[in-house]
Amino acid sequence: MTRLLIIGPPGSGKGTQAEHLARHFKVPAVSTGEIFRSNVSRKTDLGNQAAQYLDDGHFVPDHLTNALVKDRLLEGDVMHGFLLDGYPRTAPQATELDAMLAASGHALDAVIELQAPDAELEERMQRRAAEQGRTDDTIDVFRRRLDLYHRQTHEVVSVYAGRGILVTVNGSGDPGGITAAAIAAVEQFLAAPQPPS
Ligand code: ADP
Repeated sequence: MTRLLIIGPPGSGKGTQAEHLARHFKVPAVSTGEIFRSNVSRKTDLGNQAAQYLDDGHFVPDHLTNALVKDRLLEGDVMHGFLLDGYPRTAPQATELDAMLAASGHALDAVIELQAPDAELEERMQRRAAEQGRTDDTIDVFRRRLDLYHRQTHEVVSVYAGRGILVTVNGSGDPGGITAAAIAAVEQFLAAPQPPS
């Protein structure tokens, strides 16, 4: 049973890769961004509280995000494994996730970091803006999200690197090739985990 995370900057194709990887490893993909967007469109309480943060490219406050993930990880389908996409994004969220997993006697098996140069991310975001019309896909909002990624989410990546569970994948190029490379890298890691550095 596999518990995985995928972390990557906005526009890195994280959501697409999460879906393919989840199918391959036969675990549900849990995307905090998707859950927020679905709540926003259904105008739930959570959606109404989160909407402005999403539109502005800010992180939704940790207490809302943590509560959402805590509830989701208590559902039956994720008991035996999951692929978390978009969480944790801040150091306090990473601490909170540790506590949630420890409470159920579980731990993460691997963390996938998808890397791509900023210029390529911006180009992809502009393509996605034309295709999907997401309200947070404008240049200013995108740059804020990218900046937040560099300032806050890198720290989360370092935590997992220090634990020796980080698998870095080159996210440039064609999506099918990236999926294949990610699967190969994760399988190799799971077969022979590295000792913490
Ligand atoms: P992307 O991968 O393009 O950044 P996501 O779908 O993962 O997009 O997230 C979209 C938005 O949802 C984020 O910009 C943020 O406002 C909110 N969000 C998603 N996950 C989190 C999180 N873990 N903490 C805070 N905000 C989040």
